Amino acid sequence: MAESCLFCRIVRKEIPATVVAETDHCVAFRDINPQAPVHLLVIPREHVPSLEETDDPALVGRLALLAAELAQKEGIAESGYRMVVNTNADAGQTVFHVHLHLLGGRPMGWPPG
Ligand code: AMP
Ligand code: ZN
Repeated sequence: MAESCLFCRIVRKEIPATVVAETDHCVAFRDINPQAPVHLLVIPREHVPSLEETDDPALVGRLALLAAELAQKEGIAESGYRMVVNTNADAGQTVFHVHLHLLGGRPMGWPPG
């Protein structure tokens, strides 16, 4: 539900977050439990529970393009970064408002755990 959704509440500024970018359609903020020196979450303002519940190429494209722009701003574009969208249980999605993780600032293993 959008009323009680944690990330909708961050969009509405009902819950504090370290916001690094706001656009007409997206908000980006620092992950509260960072897994890398740079760990941002990029989300649509609109409540969409998961990647499985949108067929809007613009929504998905905006998340990726804003993340790439932020990788430049955070100084990790050249060294490298990873974009991750955990979707449903096997991927470990815990917050059901679609979000793209931008991770960088250290070497990352492959395959991911
Ligand atoms: P996921 O497991 O892909 O659903 O990712 C959810 C992410 O949200 C996790 O990396 C959490 O650390 C992060 N998170 C949870 N609550 C907050 C919060 N209040 N502010 C910022 N990040 C959060
Ligand atoms: Zn939401």
